Amino acid sequence: SNGSGTKNLIQIPEIKFTKLFINGKTFETIDPRSGEVIARVAEGDKEDVDLAVTAAREAFDHGKWPRMSGFDRGRIMMKFADLIDDNVEELAILDTIDGGKLFSWGKSMDIPSAANTLRYYAGAADKIHGETLKMSHELQGYTLREPIGVVGHITPWNAPTGAFFLKVSPALAAGCTMVVKPAEQTPLSALYYAHLAKLAGIPDGVLNVITGFGPTAGAAITSHMDIDKVSFTGSTEVGRLVMQAAATSNFKTVSLELGGKSPLIIFDDADLDKAGEVCVAGSRVYVQEGIYEEFVKKSVQKTKMWMVGDPFNPQVQQGPQASKEQFDIVLSYIEHGKREGATLLTGGKPCGDKGYYIEPTIFTDVKDDMIIVKEEIFGPVMSLMKFKTVEEVIERANNTTYGLAAGIVTNDLNLSNRVSRSIRAGVIWINCYFSIDTDCPFGGYKMSGIGREMGLDGLNQYLQVKSVVTPIYNSPW
Ligand code: NAD
Repeated sequence: SNGSGTKNLIQIPEIKFTKLFINGKTFETIDPRSGEVIARVAEGDKEDVDLAVTAAREAFDHGKWPRMSGFDRGRIMMKFADLIDDNVEELAILDTIDGGKLFSWGKSMDIPSAANTLRYYAGAADKIHGETLKMSHELQGYTLREPIGVVGHITPWNAPTGAFFLKVSPALAAGCTMVVKPAEQTPLSALYYAHLAKLAGIPDGVLNVITGFGPTAGAAITSHMDIDKVSFTGSTEVGRLVMQAAATSNFKTVSLELGGKSPLIIFDDADLDKAGEVCVAGSRVYVQEGIYEEFVKKSVQKTKMWMVGDPFNPQVQQGPQASKEQFDIVLSYIEHGKREGATLLTGGKPCGDKGYYIEPTIFTDVKDDMIIVKEEIFGPVMSLMKFKTVEEVIERANNTTYGLAAGIVTNDLNLSNRVSRSIRAGVIWINCYFSIDTDCPFGGYKMSGIGREMGLDGLNQYLQVKSVVTPIYNSPW
């Protein structure tokens, strides 16, 4: 069914935060529900990045933030989190009109969990410790974990709020200062967060936001000589450019959260109704032969009931693709799948008369070397494949350049243990596909990335270790 024709289900507030920078250039941000312009936003470029880095450098080298106690940083971060809660509705609206996110999910889950991410790292800010080293002979030492310095964060359109806080929260807790560049498709909420950070008492220069494009503002961050670390979430292709720019500038530390092509493996003993509920999230779904036919039937039934439409409608389960470009990419992958000989079981077309909506799409008769199985589509397209043995499915699941996540559906503990240790991916979900929480590290093996976000591993990305060594007895010097 399609609810995209619905009128405005909610009063859209005036867009208040669109400017931070000075050169006067702006760009349009588009509502993917209609293709219409929401607002014009300041377009930052290299000069603006230079100004922001100068401010962040000053705040790091001489400002209060890295020098105050972790406990005090944590208190300010808690206040920041409360301000997010106070404005949850307006923030959820911004991500819905800017990126097509489901409003009810934004309001009840996405925005509140961003506030909780801040709280989690606020609680960790005064628990950053080093170690004592019993060195040989007359020496002793200890390690300090120090903030890495000025950080550049670059975020994608698919998680305007989530990616922002997975980066900003641990960096703030560590005592870093930073420049954030949100995706050009979804700049609105980041500007709002910068405003809330100031209200919460985060000192000027600590958290700077530059809205603008990748090849200009983004590249100015990755090649900057005075940024100590860049944390990037986005495509594998741009991730490669980020590393190159780091290597040819100042060897800034790089962490990357990149693409995935995560397998979901459903074994014969699975509870099919439960498996059917989660299958939409997996892009490569391997189903064991004993339940394959039944699974295909149930998937089609579920997909037919899946409601696509205006993301403000609380009954809707899937909103529009975030941009015209992404909409075109997904449709061209669907064409590819058909041309390569996969069977289009259901979906495959745009829906609604305006906006960037696509039907949930299932392919069967898919071969492991088809493009729709190998490349990340990043849209509502699932490939169903049949397998016989556990050895075979482990091999096929690992036959990818990516390694972000994997899911297993079975009640057999031996089987789930064996498969979770054999799959080369950063997260394995057993009977709970796509469950994430702040204390559970997330990140990629292989070409899905470098480093982890969330958990204390996420905090360590923004710290570096200094060893301090002293003689125990009289100094030899
Ligand atoms: P993208 O790589 O096109 O853009 C991401 C960001 O990089 C944007 O802010 C963009 O402006 C910037 N950018 C573009 N070119 C740049 C350049 N030359 N230098 C510096 N910055 C540049 O990705 P996208 O299309 O916005 O996001 C979708 C991708 O993000 C998917 O591949 C998805 O899998 C990935 N992603 C990964 C995770 C994860 O946790 N691993 C999470 C969310 C999204």
